[in-house]
Amino acid sequence: MSENDSRTLWVAIIGSGPAGYYTAEGLVKNAENIRVDIVDRLPTPYGLIRGGVAPDHQSIKGVMRRYEKTSGNENVRFLGNLEVGRDVSLAELREMYDAVVIATGAPNDRRLGIPGDDKAGVVGSAAFVGWYNGHPDFADLSPDLAVKSVAVIGNGNVAVDVVRVLAKTTGEMAASDLTSYASHAIQASAIEDLWMLGRRGPVEAKFTHKELGELGELENCVALVDAGQIPDELGDIPEKAIPVKTKNLNHLRAFAENDAGDKPVRLHIAFCARPVEILGDKRVTGLRLEKTRFEDGKYLGTGKTFDIECGLIVPCIGYLSDPMEGATFDEGRGLFPNEDGKIEDRLYVVGWARRGPTGTIGTNRPDGMGVAERILAEVSPRGKACCGGLDRIASERGFRITSFDDWKKIEAAEIKAAQGVAPRAKISHIEEMLTLLDKC
Ligand SMILES: Cc1cc2nc3c(=O)[nH]c(=O)nc-3n(C[C@H](O)[C@H](O)[C@H](O)COP(=O)(O)OP(=O)(O)OC[C@H]3O[C@@H](n4cnc5c(N)ncnc54)[C@H](O)[C@@H]3O)c2cc1C
Repeated sequence: MSENDSRTLWVAIIGSGPAGYYTAEGLVKNAENIRVDIVDRLPTPYGLIRGGVAPDHQSIKGVMRRYEKTSGNENVRFLGNLEVGRDVSLAELREMYDAVVIATGAPNDRRLGIPGDDKAGVVGSAAFVGWYNGHPDFADLSPDLAVKSVAVIGNGNVAVDVVRVLAKTTGEMAASDLTSYASHAIQASAIEDLWMLGRRGPVEAKFTHKELGELGELENCVALVDAGQIPDELGDIPEKAIPVKTKNLNHLRAFAENDAGDKPVRLHIAFCARPVEILGDKRVTGLRLEKTRFEDGKYLGTGKTFDIECGLIVPCIGYLSDPMEGATFDEGRGLFPNEDGKIEDRLYVVGWARRGPTGTIGTNRPDGMGVAERILAEVSPRGKACCGGLDRIASERGFRITSFDDWKKIEAAEIKAAQGVAPRAKISHIEEMLTLLDKC
């Protein structure tokens, strides 16, 4: 195929997370005369697979191999270290490419929206998880872990990840790619009590049974729950949810049997409690919660409050996308309004930027594949010679784009530097990555 062939369809995908990669896969699998450029603001690909998924869940990160295969397709390019909206505008991309797909995820923490949520010691999960995972935006966060008690707010798998990573020993994390600075900070911490708090009940909690079960197997930390909070029956729930919810309740029943003195660190799992105020002067010293009760399909406040002492609060209550100049954005929902993935003519959206922060990695597959199918059905080449447009802009503006080969060099250096059974020692500063590439 000639790069300047007027029949070539040029597609730019902004974001190299699962949604971006599945879209690219769907495009190149189903069309020959196509070129796909995947642009990412980081020099490294894979979005939350690298910067979000828990460092001790390496098998989940294995999906990177599938994306790597897509990057190996001759019609796909990765252009890292290029931020759309800062280094190049969406309008410029739309001018250069026949279609543009926004796959930028939802990188911002949803705030608690209660008095005191701006105090030092409140660290949203995007930042906290990004910190322990070596995301360059948060590598220098240095959360204060010289605290005896940490409150993690949320009853989903992200909350479970955060408490597990804080509770595991160095040995338990040996085969993970937890950053060394986070590992040192966690092991040196003074944490004795972890709280995982949710405003709804155990049946409505969103965590999955495998992840919840892992909390019962921690070497140094005992999971505790008040037996009175666990219902005898599941109630009226969709049939397909019954197996997972049954297993969740069984795990919780086992935790309710545990003794607080069993292990040095205690994990208190509490339901039907919604945060109403963060206590402390400038720094967090505690959290005030209001008990909730179930009525008319909703959890409502009861007016009865209680306080817990804590020096760090990690809300895991959802994420918002970043707006992008040139695309309509719904500030309230924190996503790009769309109709089946289409924003407007030749502009599409996939993944968390499309749906909000829901679903698993696999949910992004039909999403990306469906949008790819739609692009192939409704966008025709405009006969523009887009080839090299972005590279030209980058060189004129003095930006350093990283290629997929560059990423493989960074990855090789990380694997080489790994200690013991760890899969890699992550490089978490962009300058360090670029310096390494200069030396290669
Ligand atoms: C803490 C955490 C743990 C998770 N663990 C699991 C798990 O164990 N299993 C599971 O199935 N799912 C898990 N998920 C969910 C899964 O990670 C998401 O479903 C998935 O990553 C969403 O994909 P995405 O491509 O929409 O967004 P992302 O993965 O966030 O990718 C977005 C990409 O866009 C790039 N980008 C953003 N803005 C710009 C810009 N302006 N210009 C260029 N590039 C940009 C980002 O750098 C990023 O690479 C987890 C999520 C979180 C938050």
